[in-house]
Amino acid sequence: MQEQILRKFFLGFIQIHILHHAKEEPFYGAWMIEELKEHGYDMSPGTLYPILHSMSEKNLLKKENRTVQGKIRKYYSITELGETILTEARQKAYELFKEIK
Ligand SMILES: [Zn+2]
Repeated sequence: MQEQILRKFFLGFIQIHILHHAKEEPFYGAWMIEELKEHGYDMSPGTLYPILHSMSEKNLLKKENRTVQGKIRKYYSITELGETILTEARQKAYELFKEIK
């Protein structure tokens, strides 16, 4: 129960985190799993990929295939809508964290 509630909360944080990195530079899934691990989120590909997929469907991210060392990798970058959402989410997150820190 407790874990389910937290998971729901974290889903929002993780999506903001993903948008933040997508804005900095295009990333691929395995890179993001490592990045999230460093921030204390242990995410399997089976959890992350559906999130990336749904964010692409919502037009927050765009996918692009790149060939790296003979392998095709899907890279994700931010869309214009993603940037708009990120700007707003960042303000809201900042406002909240100032209060609860
Ligand atoms: Zn990060």
